[in-house]
Order: sequence, then C-alpha cells, then structure tokens
Amino acid sequence: MPAPQVIIIGRPNVGKSTLFNRLVGKKLALVDDQPGVTRDRRFGDAELLGLKFQIVDTAGWEDEDAESLPGRMRQQTEAALETAEVALFVMDARAGLTPLDEEIARWLRGTKVPIILLANKAEGRAGESGLLEAYSLGMGDPVAISAEHGEGMGDLFEALVPHLEPLQVEEEDEEFDEEALLRGPLKLAIVGRPNAGKSTLINKLLGQDRLLTGPEAGITRDSIAIDWEWTQQNGEVRPVRLIDTAGMRKKANVVEKLEKLSVADARHAVDFAEVVVLLLDATRGLEHQDLKIASMVLEEGRALMIAINKWDVAEGASSLFQGIRGALDEGLAQVRGVPLLAVSARTGKGLDEMIKAAFEIREAWSRRVPTAALNRWFDDALNANPPPAPGGKRIKLRYITQAKTRPPGFVLFGTRLDSLPESYKRYLINGIRRELGFDAVPIRLTLRSPK
Ligand code: GDP
Ligand code: GDP
Repeated sequence: MPAPQVIIIGRPNVGKSTLFNRLVGKKLALVDDQPGVTRDRRFGDAELLGLKFQIVDTAGWEDEDAESLPGRMRQQTEAALETAEVALFVMDARAGLTPLDEEIARWLRGTKVPIILLANKAEGRAGESGLLEAYSLGMGDPVAISAEHGEGMGDLFEALVPHLEPLQVEEEDEEFDEEALLRGPLKLAIVGRPNAGKSTLINKLLGQDRLLTGPEAGITRDSIAIDWEWTQQNGEVRPVRLIDTAGMRKKANVVEKLEKLSVADARHAVDFAEVVVLLLDATRGLEHQDLKIASMVLEEGRALMIAINKWDVAEGASSLFQGIRGALDEGLAQVRGVPLLAVSARTGKGLDEMIKAAFEIREAWSRRVPTAALNRWFDDALNANPPPAPGGKRIKLRYITQAKTRPPGFVLFGTRLDSLPESYKRYLINGIRRELGFDAVPIRLTLRSPK
C-alpha cells in the first residue's frame, strides 16, 4: 500500500518549499526569496513525529502575474488533488491575507479534499495579526507554524492524524539512521568518584599502561577519548571509544574539591557518551555522591550502567550487592533496574560482561518502535487501566508516537492533559519500558493537546 499523499498548496513565497523540506528532512527543494522561482512539482517521503506520508509540493501558482489563478497551474493542482488525502493550504502570517490567497481559498472550498489551513512564518509576534486574518477565510482554525524554525509541528501532526492515521501501514523492516549509528563505535564513558578505579579499569581494558594509576586521588591524567576495539566472544571485533574523565582534575588536591569535580567531570564526559558506566568502590559502597552522578546521567538522557569495582576485595559480597541494588532502586526512581555488575579492574573479572551489556543497552537506547505497534500497546494499556476523570471530566488520550531515539522520546496526544496525574504518566512510561523493550533506559514522555 503506498503512503497517503498530502499536498501543499499556496501562492508563491508563503514557505511551501521550506515546509516541504522540513517534512522530508532533506534540503531537496530549492528555497528562494524571489517569488516565482520556477520549480517542478515535487514528491518527497515525509515523516512527522512517526506519521509517514508522501508530500507533494505543487510549487505554484506562479509564472503569471500573481493577481489571478493561472489556469494551467490550477489544472495541475486539480490533478494532484485527485490522489491526495488532505491538502495543506499555506498562507503567510507575516504578510497577511492577499487577494490571491482568497481566490485560492474560494477555489479550494469547491474540492472534496479536506483542507488544513496553515499560517506560516508565525514564529515570534510578527505573525499574530496575519493569524487572526486567516480565520476570516472560513476554513476552520488555522494551524500556526514556522516552517523555517520547526515550530507548530506537533499541532500540524495533530491536525493530520485524523486524516492519515487510519491509513498508516506498519513498516516492513526498520531502516533507520539508528542502524548506522549502531555500527559506529560505542561511546562509553567511565565515571565515578576519585579512586573508584577508573584508570585501572581503562588500563585493563586496553591491556597496556597508557594511563597512570596510583593510590593517590587526583593524580594528573590527560586522556579524554581513547579508541579501542573489543573482541566479542564470537571473535567479532567491535569499535569502542572510551571516554575517560580523569584528565580534568589536575589542580585539585583537596578532597571536597574532588567530590565536586567528579560530578563536573562526569557531566563533561556524558556530553560525549552514549552509555555511561558509573564505577563504585566495593570497599566504600554506594555513596550520596554516586547517586548524584547517576541522576545527572539519566537527566542528560544517557544510558546508565553501574559497576561495583574492586570486587576482588569486597567483603560480604552477596549482601553488599543486594544492598546496593536496593539503594539504587530507591534512589533512582526515574529508572528501575539499572544494570548492576560486579567487576574487578585489577583482575579483569566481569569486564567482558560489562562491555557486552553496554552494547546491549545502547541498542535499547537507540531503538524505535513502529507507530502502529506502539499504538497497539497503547490501546491495551488504556483498556487495562483507563485514565482517570478528575472532577468528573474525562481525560482523552488519543495517540502516541515515538518522536526520537537516543534517548527514546515519546509524544502523547490527547485533551485535558494538564490534569493527567503524574502517577498515570509513570504507568505509561513503565509500560513502555517493560513491554516494548526499553528496560533501564531513560525515557521522555511529552504531552500535547491541540490548542
Ligand atoms: P514557496 O514559494 O511558497 O515555496 O516559499 P519558500 O519556501 O521558497 O519560502 C519563501 C521565503 O519565505 C524564503 O525566504 C523562506 O526562507 C521564507 N520562509 C519560509 N518559511 C518561513 C518561516 O516559517 N518564517 C519566516 N520568517 N520565513 C519563512
Ligand atoms: P581513579 O581515581 O578512579 O582513576 O582510580 P585509580 O584507577 O587510580 O585506582 C585507585 C586505587 O584503587 C589504585 O590504588 C588502584 O590500584 C586501586 N584499584 C583499582 N581497581 C581495583 C580493583 O579492582 N581491585 C583492587 N583491589 N584495587 C583496585
């Protein structure tokens, strides 16, 4: 089944090409300040927040004096409208309505295709009066967007969904950029308090003494990123970029200063990392500072793992492990079940498992669930536990889509979302995590109501 078609219509210079480009996500169409730049009708595969369709830019009522509807263009657009599910009629909110806009509107009202009126260039305040004028076309509420700045895309999505949702087909195979990213080096940061054993760990992984280690906290080290290759059990070699956080604490020698710096170092490393391993010291257990670093990593949307180092000298190993597991689940309410491993940087115990787990969690962190599958889960989740009706008024949850990956971000559409309780949001997030394979990955859920 071909993707449903959406056609963009409007007089020259309202921003049709810019919108086309944004929806297609590539710089395909020519954008020009000069009205009437001649272009052919263009087709592109568009995706908006998981909604897939073919976008058609009619490119024009141009070529002739823009005072009346050129017959040839009109014919061409009429033909394009035959196969379209819905038309986006674009006006320029900065310029306001022009006679040509009104003429096009009159003509469009006679067609059978549903029309969504878009007031483009509505970023900032300059578009406000034009937006009001757009109401006078009598084509329903205009959707304010800025094609150039990407504003209003959620509202456009919401306007399109009723027309396109029933026509969505599930992708046969997932062919996303994420695939390519997964072949690239695993960007892995090792963070933790001074003396947790970060340098020893990296040395062990590299199998050579490239970094300096010592019993003294805060020793001078410089490395930031080290490219390395990990040989999997089956012999396959996979690239890893290790990000070391030790290099930035040269001048610090006071313990408090170090405590502060280890959060700052970690923050810096996290910027470059996909997966972050927080290294604990088994002889010290889980400390407040560790939880602070862990929370920061999750807030930054990175995949987090925790490794208890110095396991070779750990006392009461099993109760130590259970104690840390419990404290983590309590202290990191955002994410349950963060992977927890016991390792020894000195002997090498557990390091292979740690790298393996890091690759796995990156995969979950990069996954995209097809919209149809996501909404099948969503319907079941709502049936099993319908949203509450605060004050007797029902909260309507309509649709969910995965807008991004790395970390996974979901957008939930519905009405009265302001009164959706935090507990219900958590119910959904936990469901996504458990049932759609995002264990231990930080997840973002954004709520959107139509204006
Ligand atoms: P088309 O002739 O309708 O295809 O219009 P274009 O896409 O070529 O855009 C015409 C001009 O409007 C270009 O200079 C764009 O950069 C500008 N433009 C497009 N969208 C926006 C927007 O959202 N805001 C502003 N301020 N300018 C825009
Ligand atoms: P960093 O400050 O986090 O880079 O920590 P270092 O790698 O400098 O290690 C601090 C101290 O802990 C050094 O004396 C290491 O020899 C020691 N250490 C590191 N890993 C282990 C381990 O797995 N077992 C034991 N027993 N000692 C370790």
